[in-house]
Amino acid sequence: MKKFSVVIAGGGSTFTPGIVMMMLDNMERFPIGELVLYDNDEERQAQLGQALKILLKEQAPALKFSYTTDPKEAFTDKDFCMAHIRVGKYEMREKDEKIPLRHGVIGQETCGPGGIAYGMRSITGMLEIIDYMEEYSPDCWMLNYSNPASIVAEACRVLRPESKVLNICDMPVGTLRRMSQIINKQPEELEVRYFGLNHFGWWTSVKDKEGHEYIDQIKDYVSENGYLTKVEVDTQHMDQSWQDTHKKAKDLLAVNPSYLPNTYLKYYLYPDYEVANSNEKFTRANEVMDGREKEVFTAARNIIEKGTAVDSGFHIDSHASFIVDLARAIAFNTHERMLMIVENNGAIANFPDDAMVEVPCIVGNNGPEPLTQGKIPAFEHAMMFQQLTVEKLVVEAYIEGSYQKLWQALTLSKTIPSAKVAKDILDDLITANSEYWPELT
Ligand code: NAD
Repeated sequence: MKKFSVVIAGGGSTFTPGIVMMMLDNMERFPIGELVLYDNDEERQAQLGQALKILLKEQAPALKFSYTTDPKEAFTDKDFCMAHIRVGKYEMREKDEKIPLRHGVIGQETCGPGGIAYGMRSITGMLEIIDYMEEYSPDCWMLNYSNPASIVAEACRVLRPESKVLNICDMPVGTLRRMSQIINKQPEELEVRYFGLNHFGWWTSVKDKEGHEYIDQIKDYVSENGYLTKVEVDTQHMDQSWQDTHKKAKDLLAVNPSYLPNTYLKYYLYPDYEVANSNEKFTRANEVMDGREKEVFTAARNIIEKGTAVDSGFHIDSHASFIVDLARAIAFNTHERMLMIVENNGAIANFPDDAMVEVPCIVGNNGPEPLTQGKIPAFEHAMMFQQLTVEKLVVEAYIEGSYQKLWQALTLSKTIPSAKVAKDILDDLITANSEYWPELT
């Protein structure tokens, strides 16, 4: 069987060790001959790179492994690029979260003003790595899970329409694991129907392969407990703030009992609750910096000091195996059914063709083919169209350097109460992002 050459863009990411170990665990399904880490932060990546070198020498000596900040070295002769970059790192995420909170508005990584600020930074970084990939490996596919995925996907649609970039999110995968636990099944036994934008959608059906529908049973459970499960099924969404989020799904379902909600809808449906329960001094960015980031980099230092990765503290990120499923679908034309972020083109019948929507797709070696989800009701349509317009305005503001359009984007966000508050937040965000955003006039 062919062995694939893979580059991980964002090699210094807190997710890199877990994803590398997950790929090792899946070598029989997706064999890798060469793995390169690429990052533009040499020091950060070197810590993980050195530790992984020791680990891979012990666990997969035949795998050719390296890490580099040189794009040519990283991207030459690659079959797949797994992309998880965070432009501005946690330092900027903290600002994305804290600046809006100062104005009484939710501060969140991908939703509301924080997501807009992060989107304006991510577009530049994403275009950069797409261009490297196309220059050095024109046949390579990029499997992108860098956030904010909706804005990144829209920017790719407009600015790199021919590029082989597939945008995917782990949140529906994580929630499906919770649903499967609720009905005592395995996630791979289930098939869903779903419509939405990224971090903004609803499940309309959860069936087993024989066609038995479980959505009512799951709704009964969620109406009492949210997606909090008795036995924990997730390896990633476990911190206290995530437990609160899983629980809050109960209140999301109460607003719209027809479908099962994506948990991120809480930022749009209950922004007042979210602000009241946020701590302006300690946000999710602080939680990750004190938690996952510290743990991963401490584990790396220990491996380097000891010279061995035995009992290392790096753990397999089994929840990320959807990335291997996606790579396999492309490499082996498996026709895997997965939720992907794709251009609508009729998949949601009464929604614009040029919207980047999240729907089930059949993925083969031509990429994802969306499955039609029919027409959607007015409530969901109105919410989605408002959010879609926000995302489109952000990308237009980036391209045109337009202050006006970015102000409109913030004003239209359901998370912000008025044009005045939107302008105040925007002006603070511009100052904070001077190193990263295009100049806005
Ligand atoms: P992190 O800050 O730990 O790592 C990101 C890395 O990207 C850093 O080492 C940084 O130096 C690097 N980077 C930034 N700009 C770059 C560029 N232009 N070129 C190369 N490297 C660059 O962040 P993290 O928490 O590990 O998250 C990484 C990304 O993965 C984020 O975008 C996050 O939102 C995303 N994520 C996505 C999902 C999903 O399923 N969609 C799930 C989890 C995390």
